[in-house]
Amino acid sequence: MAHRREVENTKNRNSRTSSKDLQKEEEVIETVKHIKGNKGVTMGDPLDHATGIEKRELLLQVSGNPNPFDMKMLRRGPGTKENPTEIPSAFDCRIMGCICHHDATTIQYQWIYKGTPTRCECGYWFKLVHKTPV
Ligand SMILES: [Zn+2]
Repeated sequence: MAHRREVENTKNRNSRTSSKDLQKEEEVIETVKHIKGNKGVTMGDPLDHATGIEKRELLLQVSGNPNPFDMKMLRRGPGTKENPTEIPSAFDCRIMGCICHHDATTIQYQWIYKGTPTRCECGYWFKLVHKTPV
């Protein structure tokens, strides 16, 4: 009998505690809804906040150029001295990395300069070509 009372007391305590917690949780949710709903706070479009080169980059991306700075990986072409892989740059030099072999675990980085075709350790040639700055 005593055991039964204990179980009932525990049940009541648990249901009271959980309903109190539930009520508190609902109050918090209502408060958050109230804050969000009344103020209507949202972050603006990043395009409206950007300035300078970031703005030009975003405008180019919106106009359909997803890679305005040519930062994405290029596929090597034939890579011969007569037909080197062209690396675009708006400057006189650029650092580039070559994954020399398909199973390479490192990237071979090197500077390439305008007017000087460069040969990687793997034998492929690269040449810097002028690109209009963003
Ligand atoms: Zn290489």
